[in-house]
Amino acid sequence: MKKIELLNKLSDKICNCTKCPELVENRTQTVMSSGSPNAKILLLGEAPGQDEDEQGEVFVGRAGQLLTNILKACGWDREKDVYLCNILKCRPPKNRTPTETEAKNCETYLKLQIKIINPKFIICLGATATKYLLKLDHPMGYMRGKWFKYEDAHVNADVICTYHPSYALRTGDKGKEAIWDDLQLLLSKM
Ligand code: URA
Repeated sequence: MKKIELLNKLSDKICNCTKCPELVENRTQTVMSSGSPNAKILLLGEAPGQDEDEQGEVFVGRAGQLLTNILKACGWDREKDVYLCNILKCRPPKNRTPTETEAKNCETYLKLQIKIINPKFIICLGATATKYLLKLDHPMGYMRGKWFKYEDAHVNADVICTYHPSYALRTGDKGKEAIWDDLQLLLSKM
C-alpha cells in the first residue's frame, strides 16, 4: 500500500478514537498532521491548540506561523520538505500539558505515523515531545545540541531536540536564535 493510503487509513482510526474521554468531549476534531509523506524530516510538537482544533491542521496558530518562518529560513517548505505532527491528536482543554495516560493512549498512532513516514531525521519541539518520544525527561538546556536515536520497526532516525516555537514567542530573539542554532546542527549533517 502507498504511504498516502496508509496515512488515510490511520487518519480514519484517529478520527474515531475515544480513548481519552476528557479530550473527546472537548475536541472540535482530531488533528493528525500536515506536510509531505515523503519528507526526510519529521517535526514533532506537543498537541493541537485552539487554532489547530478549529482548522484541523497542525501548527497553524501563532507558534505554527513562527515555525513556518523558521523552516523557510532553513530553506524548507512546510508542505514539501517536512512532515509535522504532535504527541497528541486532540487538543487538551485550555491547552494544558498532556497527561502520561493521554500520551500513552496516543502512542500507537504516533509510532504508526513515524513508521509510515520513515524519516531520516526527527526534530522534537519542546520538552513534552522529547519526553514522550525519547523517554528522557531533562531540561531542554541539557538536551539541545546533542544527537539521539529513534529506532522502532524499520525506522532508524537521528533525533535532535530544541525549544518549542511558543517558547520563542515568549522570549523573542533569544528563543528564535536558540532554535535556529539547533537546526543548523541538523543542516550540517544533511
Ligand atoms: N503547538 C503544538 O505543539 N502543536 C501544534 O500543532 C500547535 C501548537
